[in-house]
Amino acid sequence: MKVLVLGTGTSTGVPVPCCTCATCTSNNPKNKRLRTSIYLSFGAAFEHGVLIDTSTDLRQQALRYELPSVGAVLFTHTHADHVFGIDDLRCFNFAQRSVIPVYASEQSACELRTKFSYCFDTPDRYEGGAPPKLLLQELKPYQVLRLGTVDILPLPVFHGRTEVFGFRMGNFAYITDCSFIPEQTREHLHGLEVLLLDGLRERPHKTHFTLEQAVAEIELIRPERTYLTHISHELDHDAGNERLRELTTLPVELAYDGLEFEVPSFSPEHASKPNIT
Ligand SMILES: [Zn+2]
Ligand SMILES: [Zn+2]
Ligand SMILES: [Zn+2]
Repeated sequence: MKVLVLGTGTSTGVPVPCCTCATCTSNNPKNKRLRTSIYLSFGAAFEHGVLIDTSTDLRQQALRYELPSVGAVLFTHTHADHVFGIDDLRCFNFAQRSVIPVYASEQSACELRTKFSYCFDTPDRYEGGAPPKLLLQELKPYQVLRLGTVDILPLPVFHGRTEVFGFRMGNFAYITDCSFIPEQTREHLHGLEVLLLDGLRERPHKTHFTLEQAVAEIELIRPERTYLTHISHELDHDAGNERLRELTTLPVELAYDGLEFEVPSFSPEHASKPNIT
């Protein structure tokens, strides 16, 4: 499986409009962060790409990275920065001439139906233009979704008081927007090759991990490699990485828009067992 990181910015994106801080005015391309989302390509195991969340910046991300197709969307939760690009799925409907299945928890599915009723109501109520053609399906915590021959495991985590989904596929897990990982979920995070985890900033936040909190989780989970995402403008890319080297000897760094890596995409049932050597 190929993982393409489409966006690593917190809800405002970086730079933040009207802000003149050092990160927002920096020339480092790694300090330009679109809203958080990733795109997965599974090759022959599942024909089309899989999008996790439809960020506010989806149109820009689709153009910048020339996303060829969207065969399914997995929603982590329904905060604005993760869903407000939903209308731009239309272009994939047009190109693929097919309905796109979208998956979310029971709660998120309910919120999507309310926020975007025009996408899920009977289409003849929408006069002029075409709403996205989406098939909304509910996911249950810890129950594998099979797409082609790829198994995707929804993992509940807490984002403040809200339960949201992280996802594991093979030896890769994606956990954005998180301030607490329950023990039952942590048990499914053994043997990871790559973890992409929330790491907002240094200052405490009610609903996101700080660098220090993210590192404490990483020390427990012990993936081979970790990237942090959903990053605030309070963290400059290079300074953030220096700070991470002070906090841990494990391989952890800040993700950036356009980061790509390959991870084997075999079944989580096998991957989720601890490595016994
Ligand atoms: Zn968010
Ligand atoms: Zn700023
Ligand atoms: Zn959120």
